[in-house]
Amino acid sequence: MREPTPMMKQYFSIKDNHPDSLLLFRLGDFYELFYDDAVTAAKVLEITLTSRDKSKDPIPMCGVPYHSARNYIAKLIDNGYKVAICEQMEDPTETKGMVKREVVRVITPGTLIDDFGMDDGASNFILAVHETDERTEVSYADISTGEIFAFSTSDETELKSEIETLGARELVTNAESEHIIHRIYNDPPLYTVFEADEPADYDYEDDIDEHRAINLLLNYIRKQNMQELKHLKTVEKHRINTFMKLNYAAISNLELLENIQTKKVKGSLFWYLNRTETPMGKRMLRKLIERPLVSKKEIENRQSIVTTLIDNFTEREQLSNILNDVYDIERLVGRLAFNNVDVKDLVQLRDSLYGLPELKTVLESLKLTDNKTFSNFDSMEDAYERLEVLTDTPPKTIREGKIFKDGVSEELDNLRDISTNARTWLNNYLETEKERTGIKNLKIGFNKVFGYYLEISKVQAMNFDAEKFEYNRKQTLTNAERFITPELKEMESQILTAEDDSIKLEFNMFTELRTDMMEYITRLQRTAEQISTLDTLISFALVSNDYHLTTPEFSSDKSIKLVDARHPIVERMLNENTYVPNDLTMSKDNFIYLITGPNMSGKSTYMRQVALIIIMAQIGMRVPAASAKVPIFDAIYTRIGASDDLSSGKSTFMIEMMEANTALQHATKDSLLIFDEIGRGTSTYDGMALAQAMLVYIHEEIGAKTLFSTHYHELTNLEDELTGLQNVHVKATEYDGKLVFLHKVKPGAVEKSYGIHVAKLAELPDRVTELAAEYLSGFENQKHDREPPHRQDDIFQLELPLDDSETVSKDDKQLLGELTALDLNNMTPMEALNTL
Ligand code: ADP
Repeated sequence: MREPTPMMKQYFSIKDNHPDSLLLFRLGDFYELFYDDAVTAAKVLEITLTSRDKSKDPIPMCGVPYHSARNYIAKLIDNGYKVAICEQMEDPTETKGMVKREVVRVITPGTLIDDFGMDDGASNFILAVHETDERTEVSYADISTGEIFAFSTSDETELKSEIETLGARELVTNAESEHIIHRIYNDPPLYTVFEADEPADYDYEDDIDEHRAINLLLNYIRKQNMQELKHLKTVEKHRINTFMKLNYAAISNLELLENIQTKKVKGSLFWYLNRTETPMGKRMLRKLIERPLVSKKEIENRQSIVTTLIDNFTEREQLSNILNDVYDIERLVGRLAFNNVDVKDLVQLRDSLYGLPELKTVLESLKLTDNKTFSNFDSMEDAYERLEVLTDTPPKTIREGKIFKDGVSEELDNLRDISTNARTWLNNYLETEKERTGIKNLKIGFNKVFGYYLEISKVQAMNFDAEKFEYNRKQTLTNAERFITPELKEMESQILTAEDDSIKLEFNMFTELRTDMMEYITRLQRTAEQISTLDTLISFALVSNDYHLTTPEFSSDKSIKLVDARHPIVERMLNENTYVPNDLTMSKDNFIYLITGPNMSGKSTYMRQVALIIIMAQIGMRVPAASAKVPIFDAIYTRIGASDDLSSGKSTFMIEMMEANTALQHATKDSLLIFDEIGRGTSTYDGMALAQAMLVYIHEEIGAKTLFSTHYHELTNLEDELTGLQNVHVKATEYDGKLVFLHKVKPGAVEKSYGIHVAKLAELPDRVTELAAEYLSGFENQKHDREPPHRQDDIFQLELPLDDSETVSKDDKQLLGELTALDLNNMTPMEALNTL
């Protein structure tokens, strides 16, 4: 290999320090990538891969133009890469030899401060894990808003659930804790193994003791951004027990944030509740949904705010209108802290603050400022005044002037006067020159090469005595001649100097303003949080109003009574008034519903509707029911079908058992369990036995309120044995030879031979339904004898000879070997089918 060029040497020395990032190396108007970085980037960005030094040792290379780099960087980040930005630190035109280059920032998915593809409706978390002797410390932060939290636990299921719920985009861990990442995630997001070198500086709440994780996190972030984090808020304890526990499975099965099939927001509880005006409100809504409250006092406090907002239509409209003009203050503040705001950002901040005094007055008139949620609302008039100096039409960059209004600075006004006066002077001058030379169509123009000039058309120029009028010929075009004069030159230098000076002055004024604004960071963050909460609660009020929701009451004897309850989302998707409401009554002693009914009758909808109502109640929302009295639940656990995660490599049955296990291990008598058709993933008797065992266990050991749907009709007999269990069924009926779903939940179990009945309705051959009825009674007799089912000799069945006797052929032996080697429990249905 040849000796690398000096530039490539520089490249290598920089790249050595950033082995895990794609290095964007600034070369004039381009960022270039080399070697493997180039190959990766070309593929991800769908740009052409070329090479440098084509003739000798070709170096793979690709590049993106500097001015449009943002979108390309966003795409790389979105694909989970880290990007190191290497800039030219000197002006190449003023440097001899190699231009100095340095990495000024490493952009990573979890440390974004601006909009490189960030979702404005979701938090952008980076998370650090640090294992100690008996527990794991976790700290996570959203750098775009400055929020930071910490918690620790010694319970790994809890750890997994909390971490999964956060949906962090990036992880940091020290070498000793790396194994945890792989236990938690099948497919972990981008992560870095990192050791914190120095103690970080931060404020924290009294009960924070996760300093190792916090230190790891902050050191890592500082290393990427190469800056202090001025907007970092006080580290808050993420208190697992002050919220209802909702693990990742529950959040996704209950479709709280997205539809489970489409992975879109539409159809989720978030979608139903979201009427927010600001991106901050949207993020707050998501947080409230993920963390329902467990303190009756807190919940009732939110309820009372929602009621006030519902009852006062005019004021609510007024507040909504103000919020409509509010931008993402939280993220603007994040950029401010990084000295990364441009004029547009500060103009948006100013416009966001404009309505706050009025907002405060309205809150006061509604007495909401007496509520601790909005107490001491800071309407930030002083910050607004400081920003009033900015123009309404911000320029693209801070190096082109036109940032400030007239009248803001005398010096700036004077400089601007020179430019304005100069224009008048130019107009007058042109008129005088027209007179003097007698050329009526004389023009004044400007170009970058020789400044202001006078232009005379070709025809006129032929008879023009340039010397006589002291005109200097500068340029000859096809149909015109251009001249300069000493007066013009003199004025030109005045104009250009004044413009230059005013641009410089505005630049300095802006950087000063930017620095001044940093003082407001903490206050802005507090106001932004109150605004987000207000936005979310107005959203609650609007939804409550539109869908005729009811304020739930909270019972203290652990009883639950829902009258005419509806599934909020299914109801909204259906036509007007076609949703069939249903009741639920449970108590401390009567807490399991065993639900039977044909497929598509509405079992699953019924169970989900109960869970959604509980969640809505505990986030302070009204609920879709004629009346609702509920206890406060500490957790909801779900086992709901159809979430076979083909990509994880685990079989449906295995997932089913894992979810059931989490529920059984963690539920308390104050939890809600939703088990939808447990045992479906295995053979009938196996599945039924497991389902029954779980019911008995819940009944005897846990006492959690439980909704358990099943197609094992035999389980309905449990009602005789388990006093806390009652059978209910979802009614369907036959009308005009067709099966009609009534969606009505009734006491008692569904008729036994329902399946055969449905088969008759579907007009299967009579012989089939007759035989089925015969077999059914046969099975039932067997069961009655408590004998395991056995194969009837008179039923002819093809069978693989699964013993190793002489009769087995060589082919069969091989097949047999292959079959026994299969790990059935860890196969997806698709894999099983393909193998067969
Ligand atoms: P199952 O779990 O019994 O198979 P689902 O709960 O999935 O049935 O319900 C099937 C369909 O029936 C739903 O998609 C919904 O459109 C409709 N449905 C369910 N419950 C009701 C109801 N109470 N009122 C009106 N339609 C309902």
